[in-house]
Formats: sequence, structure tokens, C-alpha cells
Amino acid sequence: MVKKGDMLYAWTSDADLAAKAECGGAVTSLLKYALEKKMVDAVFAVKKGQDIYDAVPTLITDPAELNDTAGSLHCGTLLLSKLVKKYLDGANNLKIAMPVKGCDMMGLYELAKRQQVNLDNIIMIGVNCGGTVSPVTARTMIKEKFEVDPDVVTKEEIDKGQFIIEYEGGHKGISIDELEDEGFGRRSNCRRCKVKVPRQADLACGNWGVIGDKAGKATFIEVCSEKGAKLLDEATKAGVIKTEPANPKGIEIRKKVEGAMFKLGDKWRRKDFTDLSPALWDTIQKETSRCIKCYSCIENCPVCFPVKDELTGKSLMVESGEIPPNPMFHMRRFAHISDSCINCGQCEELCPMDIPLAKFSHAIRVEGDNVFEPKLGESAYKN
Ligand code: FAD
Ligand code: SF4
Ligand code: SF4
Ligand code: SF4
Repeated sequence: MVKKGDMLYAWTSDADLAAKAECGGAVTSLLKYALEKKMVDAVFAVKKGQDIYDAVPTLITDPAELNDTAGSLHCGTLLLSKLVKKYLDGANNLKIAMPVKGCDMMGLYELAKRQQVNLDNIIMIGVNCGGTVSPVTARTMIKEKFEVDPDVVTKEEIDKGQFIIEYEGGHKGISIDELEDEGFGRRSNCRRCKVKVPRQADLACGNWGVIGDKAGKATFIEVCSEKGAKLLDEATKAGVIKTEPANPKGIEIRKKVEGAMFKLGDKWRRKDFTDLSPALWDTIQKETSRCIKCYSCIENCPVCFPVKDELTGKSLMVESGEIPPNPMFHMRRFAHISDSCINCGQCEELCPMDIPLAKFSHAIRVEGDNVFEPKLGESAYKN
């Protein structure tokens, strides 16, 4: 019987899926099982579009189509949470299962706090996350650093601290540290992120800690909720998933890797925030003077819901008129999200003027965490 707190190695019994999947296919098998057994009406996952730089969010109701979503897309910088609110009615009338990175998970909790999504109707299969690389950066990096045409690359992976690409006739790997020292590599918010194992999801799955003959062929699963335990237990009993207890040495290694990632996150926070601290507000004012007021940073933020003035009915944050907007436009937005920014990076990633918005909001949130509860990465909601 699987219980909350268990740590297991898991892999699929479907050979076709195992060949497509990232580390043994347990995640896709669990999503498929939940759909087949009608525990959910649909699976909301991510699949490869035109190429490896194109991660497409996909709603699937036919279990036969699920194998197309297997695999990890490290250029998939998308955030699934706000899409649940925007396009799936906040899962109010639809039960869904979905893979979630740490930021997807935190976004769902923030939206639930604001009654924008119904967590009772969502099964969260967490995936550990070392970080994602913006598609534009990935293309430039592959061209300039790997000296390979980005259009011929068929697969990418992040393994043992390297970004590795495969293309017809070869493969190449370069250390992430080296890439990041030269301005490539993971998005800047991902470098600072410290939610590496999403333990507020129902299950937390990843390759860290899988050692011995299962390395690369199984996923480490930490069972984080009763809901997750039930799903894994039933899928194992039905024979779609195979499991064995995690190797104790593997558990130690996983802890060490997570600890090393925290230290790296702290290093980037120190660097990014120290660069900012001498003149935070001046820097914000200078950088945001490029703003064309497209509102993308508001539209795509999981915690940003413009508040209306009770007396006038006008938005307190978004006023029409001049471009660039008065700096107060940004100051109000930062104040509005100061205690809830989850550092998902969507505002920065999707800003057409390349304004480092997440760096600002993350710096403000971390400062606020000295005083506010709950801290970033935690939630008052418990699974
Ligand atoms: P699969 O059966 O292949 O299923 C993978 C699932 O991930 C699918 O449902 C797919 O839709 C979903 N997915 C793919 N790309 C994205 C995306 N960009 N955003 C959201 N969902 C996505 N594990 C670690 O231990 N350390 C890491 O540093 C690490 N980094 C990761 C970074 C990313 C961006 C992702 C997506 C995963 C990462 N993982 C990491 C988890 C690991 O790669 C595997 O996903 C996990 O071990 C499950 O393997 P699997 O074969 O069971 O998954
Ligand atoms: Fe992964 Fe964190 Fe970046 Fe989200 S913000 S993609 S969880 S590293
Ligand atoms: Fe301005 Fe960028 Fe926000 Fe658009 S996304 S409103 S350009 S700061
Ligand atoms: Fe994500 Fe930016 Fe909103 Fe923070 S402000 S939650 S980084 S979109």
C-alpha cells in the first residue's frame, strides 16, 4: 500500500512510452491511468510543437494521445497555472490531472487563494525542475556556443550539470555554469528559484536520486499527499506502473543535489539583488521607461488581478493615456504583488521591451519575506 511520505523508484510497463519518455515514463503513465479510470475528465500537459523550442500546452481527453506528451521540454518556459484559470474555467467544471513544475504548482495555489481555480478538481503530478531556457536564448546559444544550426537539433536534455543537444550525426554537451557565465543558460528567474522539488503537488517526480541499474530508466517519486498515494497505489496494482523502494544512497544523493541547487539559487539571488540594491527605485524607473503598456505582464501573471477603485470603478493599476506610462503604473503593480510574486518569470519572458520585471518583483518579494508569512515557496494551503 503506497502512503504519503513514501519514496519510490517508478517506471511504466508500456515499452513504447518508455522509449519516448524522459526517465521511465511514470508521469505519463499516471496521467493516462487517471484519465482511463475517469478519475479526471482531461489531462492538461505539454507537448512538442514545431521543434524542441516550441512547448505547446495541450488538453487531452483521449488516453491514446497521451504518449505524445511524454518527455521534458527544457525550453518550455510556459506557466500552466494561469491557463487553467483563463481557458479551463479554473477547473470548476472539469476535473483535470496535470504535470506541474514548482512555479506551475505555486501559481495554482496563489490562484486558489483568490478563488480563481478549484484545487479539489486538480491532480498535480509535480516534476522537479532545475530550470528552463528561453527559446530565443537557446537558439542563440546553440548557434554561437555549440556551433550547431539550431534547426537541426532533435533533442535537448539537462544532465549532470550539462546542457546536451542531439542532432543528426552527433551530440554535444556544455556545462551550464560555463554557459551561464557567458550570459546563456537558464532564465534569470530560474537561476534564483529554490522550489526545485514541488512537494505541495500530490507527487514529486524527478531523476535526482535514481542510481544503479534504474538510472535514466526510472523516476524518483516522493508521495506528497493522500490523493497522490491513492493514484500511485491504484496504478501500481493495475500493473501500469512498476515500483521499488528508493535506494537509501539515492535518497542521500537527491538531498545533496537539492541542497547544492539551493546554494546556487542563493548565489544568483546575491548577485542579482546586490546589483540592484544601490538604487533599486532609480533602476526600476530607468528600465520601465521603455514600457509600451501592452499589459502582457499583467495578463500573464498568476497573482496579478487589477483591483478596481470602489468609488469610481476605475482600475487602480491600469489607466489609459500616455506612453511610456507614468512610473506609478509599475510601482502600483509591484506594490500589488509584493507579497505574492512567485518568481515564475512570465512577466519578464513575455515583455516585448525586455524589461527585467521578474528580477524587480522577486527582489521586492524576498525583501517582504523578511516580514510576511507565508514565505515564497510555501503556502497557507496544505495538501
Ligand atoms: P514523462 O513520462 O516523460 O512525462 C513528462 C511530463 O512533463 C509530461 O506530462 C509533459 O507534458 C511534462 N512537461 C514537459 N515539459 C514541460 C514543461 N516545460 N513544463 C511543464 N510540464 C512539462 N528532474 C530532476 O530530478 N532534476 C531536474 O533538474 C529536472 N529538471 C526538469 C526541468 C523541466 C523543464 C521538466 C519539464 C522536468 C524536469 N525534471 C527534473 C523532471 C524529469 O525531467 C522528468 O520529467 C521526471 O523524472 C519524470 O520522468 P518521466 O519519464 O516519468 O516523465
Ligand atoms: Fe523551474 Fe523554478 Fe524556473 Fe519554474 S521558476 S521553470 S520551477 S526553475
Ligand atoms: Fe510594459 Fe513590458 Fe508590461 Fe508590456 S509587458 S506593459 S511593455 S512592462
Ligand atoms: Fe510571475 Fe512576474 Fe507575476 Fe512574479 S510578477 S508572479 S515573476 S509573472
